[in-house]
Amino acid sequence: MAAAVRNPGKAYTEFQEQDLIGSHSEKSVNQFDIYCPQESCRCKILLASAATLVQREKSKLMLPKLPLAGATISTIDQALASEKKEGAVEETTKTNEENTEKSESSASVTATASSGDELQSFWRVTDMMAFENIGFSKMLPNGTQFLSCADCDTGPLGYHESKAPKAEKEYLVALNRVRYNDGS
Ligand SMILES: [Zn+2]
Repeated sequence: MAAAVRNPGKAYTEFQEQDLIGSHSEKSVNQFDIYCPQESCRCKILLASAATLVQREKSKLMLPKLPLAGATISTIDQALASEKKEGAVEETTKTNEENTEKSESSASVTATASSGDELQSFWRVTDMMAFENIGFSKMLPNGTQFLSCADCDTGPLGYHESKAPKAEKEYLVALNRVRYNDGS
């Protein structure tokens, strides 16, 4: 069938997050096979039940401010930007202005809320061999390596802290940066 040529996964936004989470040996695992976020790429990243659900700081996935010398990763944000424009930044600014008018004391509260280490959901594996396919960026000075699609280099899909102690070694894929094959 011609459909088999395309990525068999569906975008994260087509699911409720809880529908992506299955149960295996009393752990929360990925219910479906995980694929590259690019619809035109068929790269399979993880098999169903290969990873467990964890919460980690959102800030870990932030890209460095300056381009890395020699880095060739294309970011998923760039890919998404071509599909839709973001309006979130504008909204945040408006909210801050309103708070300033209401009272001066609320300003510090707003600042704390926006700079915090917000958590987000990741699929976690502790062994690189658990991936069907995965690519790595060059290491940042702090030891972080971003994960990307092994076929098309789209990323970051997640990250790996290469300087973490062996017992804490983990590879993390953001739930909202990959596609899922629910068989439909
Ligand atoms: Zn890909």
